[in-house]
Amino acid sequence: MNPLFAAIELIIIFCLLQVLPSVADRGLHVVDSLIISFLVFAGFLGSLFMHEYAHVLAARMMRLPTNGITVSVFGAYTSVDGKACTPKVALVALAGPFMNIFLGAVFYAGHIAFRQLDIAGTACFCLAVLNGIFSVYNLLPVMPLDGGFVVRAACCTASRDWWWSTRLSFNIGTGFLLIGIVAGIINILFNNIVTGGFFLILGISLLKHERLAYQQMSAERFLSVLDLKGHEK
Ligand SMILES: [Zn+2]
Repeated sequence: MNPLFAAIELIIIFCLLQVLPSVADRGLHVVDSLIISFLVFAGFLGSLFMHEYAHVLAARMMRLPTNGITVSVFGAYTSVDGKACTPKVALVALAGPFMNIFLGAVFYAGHIAFRQLDIAGTACFCLAVLNGIFSVYNLLPVMPLDGGFVVRAACCTASRDWWWSTRLSFNIGTGFLLIGIVAGIINILFNNIVTGGFFLILGISLLKHERLAYQQMSAERFLSVLDLKGHEK
């Protein structure tokens, strides 16, 4: 629902670093590589839009109000209004990553179909990989990623306490990220610099965004409590 821009950039850069050598191996012309990069960029933007559209569509099917949809170069954003404690919110959150799994399968089929055409086939392969990574990334149990919203919806359905569930799901996310950061440090100590560095940077970046989102939600809650008190008088 709220892709974290810096982390997405990291994932894209990481992914391109993996994919580009295979493009070079195929002996593609520089112009072909540029066309592929453009197709991948455009295709990934389209995939981001489809991800958000899946959230909106699911929310409409469940009759949950949304704040609309915004797509920018580095990410997309959809939010469900209100503090509904229902499993429907989890389904709305899951709709986005499921769309990316579906698109990944379609692009992979395209890769197989276009195998003889280096440009289209390679672009489809990159887009299949990106959609796969993006779906897994969004399913991480970290707020404010879709996976974090699934955790909160589950807690909220069980407890009926929206704010308690929000705090618990943030704590689960923090624990998950700290494990990731420690795993990164251990990897670096054992000389797996690239993997370790990736875990470390992604973990720290997500943790920073998670804390920011938490502060924002706490502030909103504080203001709404003040507002309620004001209305009581
Ligand atoms: Zn999403």
